Amino acid sequence: TPPCPTNSFLASKLTITHATNLLPVPLPNSPEMWSQKCHTDHMLTCSWSALTGWSDPAIVPFAPLTLSPMSSVLHYATECFEGMKAYRSNHDGRLRLFRPQRNCERMLKSATRVALPAFEPAELRGCIEKFVALEGPRWLPRTEPDDGEAEAASGSYLYLRPTMIGTGDALGVQRPTGALFFLVAVCFPPLDEPQKAVLPQAANQQPASLPAPPPLAPLAGAVVVVPPPPAPPKTERGVTREAAGMRLLASSTDSIRAWPGGFGNAKVGANYGPSLVAQGEARAQGYHQILWLFGAECYVTEAGGSNFMVIWRTKVEQGSRLQLVTAPLGDGVILDGVTRGSVLDLVRERWAPRARSPSSPSSSRTAETGLRRIAAGRGDEEEETVEMDVLERRFTMAEIVEASDEGRLLEAFGCGTAFFIAPVADIRFRGRELELPLKRGVQARYAMTIKRWLREIMFGVVQHEWGVVL
Ligand code: PMP
Repeated sequence: TPPCPTNSFLASKLTITHATNLLPVPLPNSPEMWSQKCHTDHMLTCSWSALTGWSDPAIVPFAPLTLSPMSSVLHYATECFEGMKAYRSNHDGRLRLFRPQRNCERMLKSATRVALPAFEPAELRGCIEKFVALEGPRWLPRTEPDDGEAEAASGSYLYLRPTMIGTGDALGVQRPTGALFFLVAVCFPPLDEPQKAVLPQAANQQPASLPAPPPLAPLAGAVVVVPPPPAPPKTERGVTREAAGMRLLASSTDSIRAWPGGFGNAKVGANYGPSLVAQGEARAQGYHQILWLFGAECYVTEAGGSNFMVIWRTKVEQGSRLQLVTAPLGDGVILDGVTRGSVLDLVRERWAPRARSPSSPSSSRTAETGLRRIAAGRGDEEEETVEMDVLERRFTMAEIVEASDEGRLLEAFGCGTAFFIAPVADIRFRGRELELPLKRGVQARYAMTIKRWLREIMFGVVQHEWGVVL
């Protein structure tokens, strides 16, 4: 294929070779669905060489890759990837991506961090959209639009894995002379969604009783939570009650995920392989994920493959203010999560403390998006007036322990694409079991409200520029 005229591949040049032997689409909640092996019929590939630049992108039938054993990725970990979802809404039956431009921009940042070639993020987004448009009809079949009730903020999704690796045939420690971009999609079980039956077109029958899902191995960059029971009870306020919270084991000083000046802020495979031993030990001890700490001060950074947030009240002498706190970006330790940024934006917009609202640039949207649902009269969904400060700052385990001891620690949650908003039940730190109110049966209602807001955008119940309709 002749190289692109620019230094990026172009979505407009994408070609499609249709698969002739189509794969079976797994039933919802089937063991196949839970295996994380169930890929779709096609993959998207695009290659680069230092001599000729990018080839044209191509969607081809899913197939093994052929690689030289000399490939750069196999020796020097020149690899980066993304994790995003394509959503099929029960509400309006449409296919959506959530802020895909963010993932494409982050992929460019990750690629260039490990000497992989640059590309135009908008062109990657165009390729991803074409891929989802091709796979969507069979792998995310359209269902009858919902009747508009609260649970309409649900549906099914595919997990998309754009990846880039260094190839080439020179073993020297140097920038790769070749690269391969590929995109695959895997079926993803509806872990936290109301368990509505979504029958694939390929199947005409659903088993009488669904088999219990096997334990889920973590997707790279995912928080693993215990799957909730099929029909979670609703509270008076219409917020789904958590079946089980995430259990975190705080990392020990000899296991550090990321450090200032390192590459923890890039989504490169090199961040994940070395974390698997600690994660395996955590799981063997009955915890879902490691809470990664940094430094002698025990700064709290991330939870497994997700960002981490706490909600606490400040001390009485500091006004008992409600605060959402998460570690800051900027020193190379924290991944700039799409979910993280979205949570912070929404809370700043919708729960802005009153005194500051007039100067807030998004205060007009608060009225638009946050309060409209009261007017929409969704009965049990009345919005509570919440005022919450949002802080992106370094914070320590000592602060969490103190807040917990003083009864000020309200909630903590991991947030990321794969398992979304995962409230924490307890944290083991230096031999002590720190219990969140969730552990005592107090629902994580702030986290659940934030989760609902996001879900409403992802499934198009609320029209928002973040929900990109295909
Ligand atoms: N931190 C790490 C280390 C991750 O791997 C991920 C998953 N990509 C996240 C945070 C969450 O990022 P996002 O919300 O973009 O999925």
